[in-house]
Amino acid sequence: MKYISTRGNSPALSFSEVLLTGLAPDGGLYLPESYPKVSDEELTELRMLSYPELAFNIFKRFVDDIPEADLKKIVDNTYRADVYRYARKNQDPRDITPTLKINENLYLLSLSNGPTLAFKDIAMQFLGHMFEYILKKNNTELNILGATSGDTGSAAEYAMRGKQGIKVFMLSPYKKMSAFQTAQMFSLQDENIFNIAVKGVFDDCQDIVKAVSNDLDFKKKNKIGAVNSINWGRILAQIVYYFKGYLDLTKNNSEVIDVTVPTGNFGNICAGHIARMMGLPIRRLVVATNENDVLDEFFKTGNYAPRPSDKTFHTSSPSMDISKASNFERFIFDLLSRDASKLRELWSSIDKGGSFKLDDEAYRSIQNFGFISSSSKHQNRLDFIANIYKNYSVMIDTHTADGLKASIDHLDSDVPMLVLETALPIKFEETIEEAIGIKPERPDDLKNIEQLDQRFEVFDNDTDQVKQFIESNN
Ligand SMILES: *Cc1c(COP(=O)(O)O)cnc(C)c1O
Repeated sequence: MKYISTRGNSPALSFSEVLLTGLAPDGGLYLPESYPKVSDEELTELRMLSYPELAFNIFKRFVDDIPEADLKKIVDNTYRADVYRYARKNQDPRDITPTLKINENLYLLSLSNGPTLAFKDIAMQFLGHMFEYILKKNNTELNILGATSGDTGSAAEYAMRGKQGIKVFMLSPYKKMSAFQTAQMFSLQDENIFNIAVKGVFDDCQDIVKAVSNDLDFKKKNKIGAVNSINWGRILAQIVYYFKGYLDLTKNNSEVIDVTVPTGNFGNICAGHIARMMGLPIRRLVVATNENDVLDEFFKTGNYAPRPSDKTFHTSSPSMDISKASNFERFIFDLLSRDASKLRELWSSIDKGGSFKLDDEAYRSIQNFGFISSSSKHQNRLDFIANIYKNYSVMIDTHTADGLKASIDHLDSDVPMLVLETALPIKFEETIEEAIGIKPERPDDLKNIEQLDQRFEVFDNDTDQVKQFIESNN
């Protein structure tokens, strides 16, 4: 299995190479040269498997440069019940991603029971183990540099802490994250984790990361890498839970389900698209956005018009406050029947800050891929949090509320709907309290997290300071 770039002008790479590479040299994103199909017979066999067995079965179809016994060991180390310890009281943490029945045809897939209480753990934990393995094999090291406004940074740090050959330098805007998110990251005392609070906003942090990454000499000399949402390993790990959700909801392979995904960078739902391309009987994929509804507009009109960051709203589902979804290019590549020159044409406008509109034929073909969409607003989130709590005694977070809103817009009484739960409500206490008047109860080990000792540096908005810090800790 080789991996190719969506822009068609980069050499094909192996799985291990793609994992350590971000963007392709031609500016595109890597995808497998074809999607392995899961036959009806195979799908039936998958029904018998535990989550780690299922993950191994899916991964080995995409990975051919790591011995199967090693891959198996990596997967077993990654998907362990003790890592997914924040499962709800009546859920089995060995399930990794248990389903939760809301009513006769509405279900949640609990993806957020890992260490940082958001679904990003599922993929990031896999990446941590994978990186450690590949770096050791290649006898090299990696310094991960990233910028975060909360979720991604903490998932990355918890996945990489204590890993051999890896250091993490994570930039965040000083005093701009919630107390809980700050404590999650800054209370880590591991020697390979470096928290850098920058006096500025999130975009300043991202600009510093870009400036450092554009200094190719520095990047090479200091072995700088990334774990951002375009990393193929993150997409791959997420394909598994679509299979898990489907198998939980159905008894035989003639049944179909719909899936709704709270969407930001289009990474999660891209994995759902690939699961569907592999033959998983998903009828519809519902893209849920918040007030930042660029993708909702696209699926309703065929017009894709990303917005600059100063036109992006700050909402109560902040991990979806994205107006240019970095993984979207992967789907459009498939939509265009993998015509890289057509894709380059569309993205020549996007890369200049412009937009594009699909022609009628391409727009009509979206329905072959099952995609539909909806958007929601703050009041919708409050209403859904309150409604689900009152009627079903289930507390949901703000992003999952965006998902529920979209799922109800498209609910069909004949087809079970699975909504992906992308974070636990504990992470967004203030909005939960606004919706239902009480705060979600925290697990014992998180009750006093804000009081723990914190380990972080405070820097000016200055790329050179960050570079010097990386060099002196190398
Ligand atoms: C990252 C994130 C999302 C968006 O996921 P994408 O893969 O970027 O589409 C949604 N909800 C939460 C809670 C997240 O952390």
